[in-house]
Amino acid sequence: MSQSDHKTEKKIWFYRLLRFSIAVGIAVLLSQINLDYLEALTYDLRMKYQPVSAPSGHIVTVAIDTKTRQVLERYPNARDHQIFIEKLLELQPRAVVYLVDPNQFLGSTEDKQRFAHSAVQLPFYIADEHRFPLKGLDNELRLPAPLDILNVVSAPRSRDQRNFAKDGVTRRFVLSFRDQLLLHPLLANTFNNFSTLEDYSGTFQFKRTQQGYINYRPQNSYPALSFFDVLESRIPLNHLHDKIILIGKDDHSDTGDYSLTPFSRDVLAMSNLEVHANILDTLIQDFSLSRAPSWINLLLTSLISILTVYAIINITPIKGLGVLIGTLFLYSLFSFFMFSSFQIWLPMAHPFLAVFICYYFFIPYRLIVENRKSWDYFHRNQLLTQVEELKSNFLRMMSHDLKTPLARIQGMTDLVMRNSERLNPEQHKALRSINQSSQELSDFIGSILSLGRIESKEIKLHLKSKDINTLLNEVISKCEYLAKERSIQILTEFEPMFSMKLDTDLLHQVFTNLVENAIKYSPKSTKILVSTEEPDGRLIVQVADQGKGIPENEIENIFTKFYRSSQATSSKVKGSGLGLYLARYFVELHNGRISVESDTGKGSTFTVELPMNEPLVPNSSIH
Ligand code: ADP
Repeated sequence: MSQSDHKTEKKIWFYRLLRFSIAVGIAVLLSQINLDYLEALTYDLRMKYQPVSAPSGHIVTVAIDTKTRQVLERYPNARDHQIFIEKLLELQPRAVVYLVDPNQFLGSTEDKQRFAHSAVQLPFYIADEHRFPLKGLDNELRLPAPLDILNVVSAPRSRDQRNFAKDGVTRRFVLSFRDQLLLHPLLANTFNNFSTLEDYSGTFQFKRTQQGYINYRPQNSYPALSFFDVLESRIPLNHLHDKIILIGKDDHSDTGDYSLTPFSRDVLAMSNLEVHANILDTLIQDFSLSRAPSWINLLLTSLISILTVYAIINITPIKGLGVLIGTLFLYSLFSFFMFSSFQIWLPMAHPFLAVFICYYFFIPYRLIVENRKSWDYFHRNQLLTQVEELKSNFLRMMSHDLKTPLARIQGMTDLVMRNSERLNPEQHKALRSINQSSQELSDFIGSILSLGRIESKEIKLHLKSKDINTLLNEVISKCEYLAKERSIQILTEFEPMFSMKLDTDLLHQVFTNLVENAIKYSPKSTKILVSTEEPDGRLIVQVADQGKGIPENEIENIFTKFYRSSQATSSKVKGSGLGLYLARYFVELHNGRISVESDTGKGSTFTVELPMNEPLVPNSSIH
């Protein structure tokens, strides 16, 4: 490796490292920004669209609903509740939880007392949704007499009001406050028997509480029995045995009885009764969501940033965009799968935002690089065109200037040859050699001039009526001398033809080149066949030789400018590599085609195909 290669390699690695560091830097900076609101939205989406699983079946909800209120023409009073509790006593439920405050019941002290006495015979709890238990101040939660004998346990529903997403949606639940167990784990433990709260998956410490994320089921997953139906025994109640029975309000009269949920931001989205059922079931089924720790967030964001930068810098814009959209799509699918199958909440907000930031950060860079490249390209192209123009002008000028002295040499040699009686055989031979060489030079100059005319698009068709067989005979007689020198016999097989409109000069040049090539590239004492035929409106001329043929891998090149096969150069056969290029150009100018079939060692057949019925446009030119 040369020193400059070493330097460029080092530079490339430096830029790679720089891009890598910027990508990781963006991820690190981004992870410092709180995107809880966005993240919570992705949580809501995943929650909303995850497949619904069956509830545990341990929870039954009883709603003080519109029906109850309408039929009783009031809210149930202390007496109604006492009757209700008496009913439950027979059924032996696992626990009865009141989400309504018995202190608010209408009724006499005796009624309330009777209610309390019945309730204490059950595993009975009153859920206090607003206060945490304070150590040493347990009595704080107690209700006034005669309800003071009842068990009040705090069961706050936390809303994301001041922390987390700050959008008032209930996504979390609290298991304990200052190590004191709250209502939900207390009840769930009767099923799970976990020794510590940490045994519940996905729970985490926040301030002085232990919390978890609710794994919601959509609205009405816990169908509520009407309080009135239970009170009046209008429905069979046997299935309430060993169930946790939650009693709460659901009569659309107070928004305080409802919570915003991931499913809906409607103020009456889901009754608190159902939210508590969801919390309880999340714990009973140990189904809480585990939020990925911050280092996973950083890792994923970094990986996605690196991929974004790679896609922007190294792939074409459309493909890059495809890769990014594909990655985000697959990542979303993966996180959705982890969420619904393993209850793992992978971050989405930071990785997605990383893609956009990296995109807007690196796209201008890519644009600058591309712009510089295309500017270089344009510059080089301009230079090349200038050089090409100079070259053509030079060739044309030189060829033109060479033509006049050459014509003079040819004229003089012709003159001397015509009066050659006084020359000895050696002088005769020398004169013939001069004549032949000047003819070769003249042909070469002719080709260069034609090339110049082609490149400046000056060549036009000058159509004349001529029978192609006559034209070919002229070509053959011109080449006869060359063929004789190599003892090559030129045979013809001509189909009789009518005259057609052609540019005779150009086609003369084409067929001369084909016949001359056949002579040049064939061994001595072989045969060449020139044939014509006229199948269905086409004119076909073939020049077949018994030469060495053209190797297959070179066939496609022989019609290109200045191309000479390795065979031609190694066998020192003279030529410019322009003949077939011009031939193809001239044939195509006639709307025709030229092709070759070659069998190495056996010979080649060049075929020129010209349309006979298609009217040619004089002065047409191809580009
Ligand atoms: P030139 O003959 O001046 O080299 P041409 O353009 O006429 O240039 O031909 C291009 C190349 O095609 C030749 O160099 C030769 O290798 C190959 N070629 C053309 N005609 C024949 C032929 N009849 N047999 C074998 N090779 C041929």
